[in-house]
Amino acid sequence: MQFRNFKMVGYVVYGRGSFNQLDEILAPQRKGDAPMVFLVDHFFDSHALLQRIPLHKNDKLILVDVTYEPKTTYVDQLAGELKAEFGKVSGVIGIGGGSTLDLAKAVSLMMNNPGSSADYQGWDLVKQPGVYKVGIPTLSGTGAEVSRTTVLTGPTRKLGMNSDFTPFDQIVLDPELTKDAPANQRFYTGMDCYIHCIESLEGTYLNEFSKSYGEKALELCRKVFLEKDTWDEASDDMLMMASYAGGMSIAYSQVGVAHAVSYGLSYLLGTKHGIGNCIVMNHLDEYYPAGVKEFRKMVEKGGYDIPTGICSGLSEDQFNKMIDVSLGMKLLWENALGKDWEKIMTREKLRALYEKL
Ligand code: NAD
Ligand code: ZN
Repeated sequence: MQFRNFKMVGYVVYGRGSFNQLDEILAPQRKGDAPMVFLVDHFFDSHALLQRIPLHKNDKLILVDVTYEPKTTYVDQLAGELKAEFGKVSGVIGIGGGSTLDLAKAVSLMMNNPGSSADYQGWDLVKQPGVYKVGIPTLSGTGAEVSRTTVLTGPTRKLGMNSDFTPFDQIVLDPELTKDAPANQRFYTGMDCYIHCIESLEGTYLNEFSKSYGEKALELCRKVFLEKDTWDEASDDMLMMASYAGGMSIAYSQVGVAHAVSYGLSYLLGTKHGIGNCIVMNHLDEYYPAGVKEFRKMVEKGGYDIPTGICSGLSEDQFNKMIDVSLGMKLLWENALGKDWEKIMTREKLRALYEKL
């Protein structure tokens, strides 16, 4: 038995207003004139947060377009432009939702690794550490702030650059930054955490390490989405810690059916991760009966919109493509259904599931 020896985030600061310490945190990491590069979610264009970013003389602020989830072409373009303009940079700081955090991780890695980010989609293909990188989430739920991957859509697949060099050197967890998130978006991203927990806790890879974090994250999700009647600062505080704990839980386990199916949607239809997981979860009674029931209760309580009918009218080829992408996520299926998963989740069965979505 080979136990996973996994790399974690270097430093963590947590608290309302901790964003104000960013200048101080970055100071020792500045290398001469080499700039700090801030990749900021385009939601914050003309938002007061921009004025609070500690920009020094040579620093660069780039508003990143996260209309679509990160593509390898976008990562290559950003890293290429930074190399052309500066040669070397002191660090990359991502401020935004999971998409921006993933972009920041990938751009940091591509500053020091040759070729295209598409060459590194997979496990442990990255050979050189990236430049210093910081993650500052403005949505809570993905766990991207703690994970060892960065999920990218490439020319042939949607797959992370999963490596020991991928985790951030520093994360700044300031729940105040999440306060402007629209209720539906907050729910979709928050449910990413809830669903991670269900998949991990119900999975065959579960151990006490994952379970300890997963149970805590689940408890926090239940508090914010079921027990509290109004959304307040405490809700933002709790959901940010749920995301962190959910991410830690996945570090030693895996996600499952909802993610495996949702990857197919996202690859073919561009369905975003959080909402895609919700669309799928809504139909997984057979695999996670209690979780699905509770999920529906949360949807109902908050009055959130979960789209339906997104696969109606797709062609035979399109269904086949989604099925290929989904069945390619072997570790997820094995975690969910055990070693004999291929006998359980046949192409026909998966096709029937996609038709329901
Ligand atoms: P997102 O980053 O895609 O952002 C969703 C929307 O919310 C965007 O329009 C964005 O501009 C906006 N937004 C961000 N912060 C906001 C705020 N404070 N207020 C209002 N709007 C805000 O959403 P997400 O759900 O956080 O992230 C999904 C992405 O994370 C996907 O690309 C997925 O692949 C990735 N992901 C990565 C990991 C990992 O381990 N690396 C894990 C799960 C998901
Ligand atoms: Zn997820």
